[in-house]
This record gives sequence, C-alpha cells and structure tokens, in this order.
Amino acid sequence: MTNVNLYRQKLVARKQELSERLEQLEDVLDDPKSQDFSEHAVESEFDEVYESQGRAGLKEMAAIDAALERVEKGEFGICASCGNTISKERLDAVPYAALCRNCMS
Ligand SMILES: [Zn+2]
Repeated sequence: MTNVNLYRQKLVARKQELSERLEQLEDVLDDPKSQDFSEHAVESEFDEVYESQGRAGLKEMAAIDAALERVEKGEFGICASCGNTISKERLDAVPYAALCRNCMS
C-alpha cells in the first residue's frame, strides 16, 4: 500500500519551491536595468539559460499538478499507460511520475 499522503506532501512542497524559483527567474528576466548593459550578446545568452530553466520549471509544475489531480482521484501511483502499480523506488525518486518504468522506456 502506497502512502499517498506522504507523496502528496512532497508534491505540494516541491510545487511551492518551484513557484518561488520561477518568480525569481521572472524577476531576473524582467529586470529593466539589463537593457542598459553594453554586453548585449552576453546578456541575451544569460537570458536564454534562465528561460530554459523557466520552461523546465513550468513543465515540472504541470506534471506536479497532474499528479496532485491523480491523488484526488485516487489514481496516484498507478501507471497512466498500463495500469500497473508504479514502484515505490520510482515514486521516491520522481513523486510526480505518471508512468511505470516499463512504459517510460
Ligand atoms: Zn506502465
């Protein structure tokens, strides 16, 4: 029996952490002072790194939201593809995993 509540707490905590990080990233990207920098090329490369981090963060947020939805539906820990139970090891590593190891590969 999977301890769903424990994973739920993990997911909520991770979501909180992510949204704080995304806010910080937004602050960096929106900083109007950066427009005055002389090294524009360096700046925009810098922005790209932050943007890709932001995109990865948003993707993870969506995965966490979907996992929390599965918790509500009582489907958490069940593979969305084959319906088998997702192993505890996998959920410990990736609490928002929607697929079992077999279906991932
Ligand atoms: Zn599966």
